[in-house]
Amino acid sequence: MKYRKMGSLDWKVSALGFGCMRLPSRRINRLRAKTDESIEIIRYGIDLGINYIDTAWLYHLGDSEKIIGKALRDGYRERVHLVTKLPMFMVRNSNHFDKYLKTQMKRLQTDYLDAYLFHALDQGKFKKLKRLGLIDKMEKAKNEGLIRSIGFSFHDTLPVFKEIIDYYPWDITQIQYNYMDTCIQATTEGLSYAHNKGIAVVVMEPLKGGTLANPPQEVLNIISSAEKKRTPVDWALQFLWNQAEISVVLSGMGSKTMVQENCASADRSGINSLAPQDQMVIESLSEAYRKRIIVPCTACGYCMPCPEGVNIPQNFACLNNVSLETSRFRRFQTRRAYRKLQNSKKKVDLNNPNGNATICIGCRRCVEKCPQKIDIPKELEKVKQVLGKRKALWWF
Ligand code: SF4
Ligand code: SF4
Repeated sequence: MKYRKMGSLDWKVSALGFGCMRLPSRRINRLRAKTDESIEIIRYGIDLGINYIDTAWLYHLGDSEKIIGKALRDGYRERVHLVTKLPMFMVRNSNHFDKYLKTQMKRLQTDYLDAYLFHALDQGKFKKLKRLGLIDKMEKAKNEGLIRSIGFSFHDTLPVFKEIIDYYPWDITQIQYNYMDTCIQATTEGLSYAHNKGIAVVVMEPLKGGTLANPPQEVLNIISSAEKKRTPVDWALQFLWNQAEISVVLSGMGSKTMVQENCASADRSGINSLAPQDQMVIESLSEAYRKRIIVPCTACGYCMPCPEGVNIPQNFACLNNVSLETSRFRRFQTRRAYRKLQNSKKKVDLNNPNGNATICIGCRRCVEKCPQKIDIPKELEKVKQVLGKRKALWWF
C-alpha cells in the first residue's frame, strides 16, 4: 500500500480508502448489507494496508455503520482513521447534531471519530448549517474529544464549493471526481482551490458510480490497444493518484477480489507517475465516452453568466449523465440533481446561477460565446423535454 499526505493533518493515509456504501448486499433486500461477509472484506482491506474507512448514517440503511463497529473490534479500530457523516437532510434543529453523533458512535462502537463530515453539502444544506449553528456544535464535539477533525462532503457547483471552503478552516473535503467529472461538481479548479488551502481532499465516485468500470466497446478498444496493459478500473484510479492534490481515493468494494485488485492498483500508484502517453490514453477514453453524450458541452463556462440565471453547463451535465449512466439508480440520482436547479425566476440567484432549462427565454445571448458552437437554447429545450418530466427514462 502507498501512503499519502492528508492536507494539514498529520495522518499518513492510505492512497485507497474503504468506502462502505457498497458492501456485499443481502439477497432479499439489496439495500441492506451482509454482516459476516462485509466484516471479512473490511478486515481483509485493513490487513492489506487500508487505513481510511468512510461511512455515513444512510449507507445500507444504517447497516454500514453497525457492521463497521463489529469489523473494528479485536484491535482493528486503532489501525484506521474512521470517518462518518452527519445526515444533514435529517437534521431539523441543533439538538439533532448531538442525537445523531451519539447514535453513530454507538453504532460504530467507538468513543471518538477521526473525522466527522457534514454529509452532501449543497447550497440549501449549507444555509441550514449556518442557520442552526452546526459549526459550533462540531467545535464543541471536537473540544470534548468526540471528534478529531471536521469536514464536509459535497454535491453542488464550483461557486458553492468555493463559498463553503472559504467559510471555515476545514480539515477535509470529500468531492465527486474522476476523469469524466473534471468540469462538473467541485471541478479540477475546486480540487486545487481546496488543496492550496491545506485541506485534505478525499475523492468519491472515482469510477463515476461504476460507469467507468463497465465501458462500451469503443472504450474497450482503446484500452486493449494501449501500450500499457491496465484494466478500465486501473486507468480511472491511476488518473486520480497521479495528482498531488488528492489524498485518498475511496472505493466502494463488495468482494475480496475487488479489494485485492484495488490494493494492487494502489501499490502501483504515485504522484506524477503517469507518462505523457498514459495521459493521452486517458484523454482518448474520456473523448470516447464524450462521443456518447447528447450535448458536446465541456463545461468551460464561457457562455456564463446567463442574464436569466440559467446554469447552462450544469443543465447539460445532467442531460449527458442521464445518457451515460448504466444503472437506473444513477439515472435517478441525476434527475434528482436536475431538480435541485430552480424552475422559478423568483428563486434564481443571479450571483450564483442555479436556474434550470425552463428559465431560458431564448434570447440567444449565450450562443456566440460557446466555443463548441452549441445551439444552447435549442439544447436546453431537449433538457426540458428529457429531465423536466418526472416519469422514468426507460428509453435510455
Ligand atoms: S438563450 Fe437562454 S440560456 Fe442563453 S443567455 Fe438567453 S436565457 Fe440564458
Ligand atoms: S460555452 Fe458551450 S461548451 Fe462551454 S459551458 Fe457553455 S455550452 Fe458548454
